[in-house]
Amino acid sequence: LLGISLFSPAAFAQDLEADLPAGKSTHSYQSDVARLRGIVINRFLSARLDVFLRELISNANDALEKLRLTALTDKGLWDGTGELNITIKAVPGEDGERGRIIIADNGIGMTKEELTANLGTLAKSGTTEFLQRAEGSDDATGTGNLIGAFGVGFYSSFLVADKVYVASVPARSSYDSDATQYVFSSTAEDNEFDVYPDPRGRTLERGTEITLVLKPDAEEYLDTIAIAKLVHKHSVFSTQFPIYMHEMK
Ligand code: ADP
Ligand code: MG
Repeated sequence: LLGISLFSPAAFAQDLEADLPAGKSTHSYQSDVARLRGIVINRFLSARLDVFLRELISNANDALEKLRLTALTDKGLWDGTGELNITIKAVPGEDGERGRIIIADNGIGMTKEELTANLGTLAKSGTTEFLQRAEGSDDATGTGNLIGAFGVGFYSSFLVADKVYVASVPARSSYDSDATQYVFSSTAEDNEFDVYPDPRGRTLERGTEITLVLKPDAEEYLDTIAIAKLVHKHSVFSTQFPIYMHEMK
């Protein structure tokens, strides 16, 4: 280090934001540079999309598989009729509303207590190591790579959403039309979550529906084709159950 010079941050910012001087010229990036920039800018955000889709599809698969297996011995849980499946809806934001991605499965579902315990506590074995390594690295890319390598499960929703709602009806209650559907809701910034009866009433026969209210900078990824490609990529590896993708009109 040869020396430190002082500058005023305010003046510095002002200079950059001043009206463009006369003699300005505009240039196009050479095409390879443009490609590289496109990859850098898009890869990171689409990697977020990639990570949370993978995690939520794998959770939906686990919930369906759990229902299928438990119902082999417990017929009261599911009579084996109707298809076990996953649906994904991309809902563009309109009139100032945020865009949403909604992922639902008609699997094992969760009770009010399970919503609290399963989504409010960490029971995963790799979590401690993940936290130690992520806290040891300040840069977002490092953390992004860690998230990719470890998988942070359900919490990867907050990579793209600043609010997440999880509505659920346990399979045990599926034949009881009076059973209450509960919602877990949480924002990305608050360190707390709420669990309450779904204000919409009972909309699910059984299973879980996860609604991601997308961050403003994640909304551009509300592209059905891009989502469909990623869903296809992950479904090939992570589930045998059919996935239906719905586009809102
Ligand atoms: P993991 O899948 O490794 O257990 P996650 O963070 O992905 O960790 O999920 C935490 C828990 O939340 C799961 O173990 C499960 O009990 C519950 N869960 C998440 N998604 C669903 C779902 N779609 N249906 C039922 N339970 C779910
Ligand atoms: Mg999981």
